[in-house]
Amino acid sequence: MASNTRERAGKSKDIIREDGKTFFEFTDRVTAFDGLKEDEYLHKGEVCCRMSVYWFEIMGQEGIPTHFRSFVPPNRIEVTYLEIIPIEVICRNYVAGSLLQRYGRGEEPGAGIEPRLGARIPDGIIEFTTKFEERDRPIGEEEILGNGWLTREELDQIREYTRRVNEIMSGHLLEKGIILADFKIEFGKNASGEILLADEVGTPDGCRFWIRDSYDAGRIESLDKDVYRYDEGDVSDAYSRIQKRICG
Ligand code: 5GP
Repeated sequence: MASNTRERAGKSKDIIREDGKTFFEFTDRVTAFDGLKEDEYLHKGEVCCRMSVYWFEIMGQEGIPTHFRSFVPPNRIEVTYLEIIPIEVICRNYVAGSLLQRYGRGEEPGAGIEPRLGARIPDGIIEFTTKFEERDRPIGEEEILGNGWLTREELDQIREYTRRVNEIMSGHLLEKGIILADFKIEFGKNASGEILLADEVGTPDGCRFWIRDSYDAGRIESLDKDVYRYDEGDVSDAYSRIQKRICG
């Protein structure tokens, strides 16, 4: 007999198992600061779902394997069932967020990086954080390998996919007048052990999007979750503006 279940997959999505199929449902929940701040915004789930579909299709065309199978409007995707790799991968092109905080606490910036909000990071950086701990914690390659979470080859593959996702998204976004300051992605392994891009991609929940004209004029204008994190205005409006700007 088929068993249908629903559970939380991260803070803003539910994972649904229905008749042997797996679905991600993007909810209207939004959280920040490791769950300390929590709200709901109408249609936020649909916006993030449609934007993820947009990017998953592009990534597939570009040869990056993903868990995306099909769009079930308005706010669900059918996905390949994966064993999720317990790390989050963060790619940064500009200084912001927790990186800036770490500099404020005394961490030495890497070569050529200015410890200032909005400073460009030459060549970008890729970092890892834990996924299943109460607070996301930066984690080094040695710990990931030492825990047996990934082999060296798998870690290199993840770095390469992340670098390509960054190139693809940054290129598309620049044409639309948006700077991709940073983003977070996740990966999983399918039944054959292959690594696939998982979770969601290219949404205002998991990326920092800055309006290029404002940046060039010396001002950071965000169209992403920072509007929610720092009470910078109308969250629903920011999410629907970035959706229109990117997906048309
Ligand atoms: P930071 O580490 O600076 O707070 O975040 C870096 C990037 O990763 C930002 O684009 C941020 O939105 C994204 N990010 C960090 N943690 C999470 C998370 O738990 N969920 C999602 N969806 N994105 C995250």
